[in-house]
Amino acid sequence: MNYNQIFEKIDDALKPFVSDGKISASIPELAMVDPTKFGIHLLDNRGNDYAFGNSDEKFSIQSISKVFSLSLAFQFMGEQIWQRVGVEPSGNPFNSLVQLEYEKGKPRNPFINAGAMVIADILISNLENPKEDFLNFVRKLAHTENIHYNESVALSEKKVGFRNAALANFLKSFGSIYNEVDIVLDFYFHQCSLEMTCKELAHSFYYFANEGFTKERIKILTQSQTKRLNALMQTCGFYDESGEFAYKVGLPGKSGIGGGIIAIHPKNYSVATWGPKLNEKGNSVLGMKALEFLTTETQMSIF
Ligand code: GLU
Repeated sequence: MNYNQIFEKIDDALKPFVSDGKISASIPELAMVDPTKFGIHLLDNRGNDYAFGNSDEKFSIQSISKVFSLSLAFQFMGEQIWQRVGVEPSGNPFNSLVQLEYEKGKPRNPFINAGAMVIADILISNLENPKEDFLNFVRKLAHTENIHYNESVALSEKKVGFRNAALANFLKSFGSIYNEVDIVLDFYFHQCSLEMTCKELAHSFYYFANEGFTKERIKILTQSQTKRLNALMQTCGFYDESGEFAYKVGLPGKSGIGGGIIAIHPKNYSVATWGPKLNEKGNSVLGMKALEFLTTETQMSIF
C-alpha cells in the first residue's frame, strides 16, 4: 500500500477543516501549542515507516498514556485487574464524578480519569520506583531513550487539577485506591505529561498490531490480552465519542487532549496523528478526519 500517496490526498481533504476546533483550555501549559500543527505517522506490518507533516515533533500525549499504564498493570495483575476497574463505555465525560458515586467507587473503565487513577495506584503498589520504572517501560516500547515527562505540564495540571483531586479523594473514600492520594495524583499528572512524537507513538503502540510483540519482538502482552485491550480501545478510547469513532473510522485507538490520536489496525499497522485543535468532545478534529479518510481511502477497517 502506498501510504505516502494517501497522506497527500488526506492533506488536501483536511483543508476545509483546518480552522475548526479549539485547543484544550483545561491545562494552561497546553494552551501554548501552535494550533496549526498537523502530523501523521504509520508503521506497517513489514516495519515500513510512512510520515507526513509535523510527525517528528513532540507533543503532550495526555490520556494516550492510559493505554501504557493499563498494559503494564495488566502484566502485573492479569484478569484480576477487572475486579478494580470495569470494561464498559462510560457515556459520560472523562472526568465525571456522578457515575463514580452511584457505582460505589468502581470506575467504569480504565480510560476515564477515575479508572486511570486506579491503574496508577496499582502501578505504584507494584513498581519499585513508579515514575522512573513507568518511563522506562514506555522507552522500551518506543525503542528510544529520548522520552521524558514534561515537568511544567505536570505542574500546570496539578495547579488546576481540582476535579482530578476530587476524583482521587472520592476513590480513596470508597477504598478504591490504596496509596496516598497525593502520590497517585503525582503519578497520574506525570504519566499524562509524557511527550512523544507521532513516530514514537506509532512505534510504541505497534504491539497492538502485532499480537502483543513490539517491533523488536519483545513480548508485552499475550495474544488474548492484546485482543482485550484493543477491544477496550475500540469501545472506550474516544471519550464520549467512541461510537462515532468506531462508526466513521472503524479502528481501535485512544485520543488525548493534547490533540494526539493513536489507532491500530490489528495485524496491519499502527498509526498516530497529531492536530492540537479539539472538537467539543475533546478529540482532535484533524486527527479524526485524517483517520476517517485513511480507512475510507484504503478500504481497510476492522469491520
Ligand atoms: N491530564 C488530563 C486530565 O486528567 C488528561 C485528559 C485527557 O487527555 O483526556 O484532565
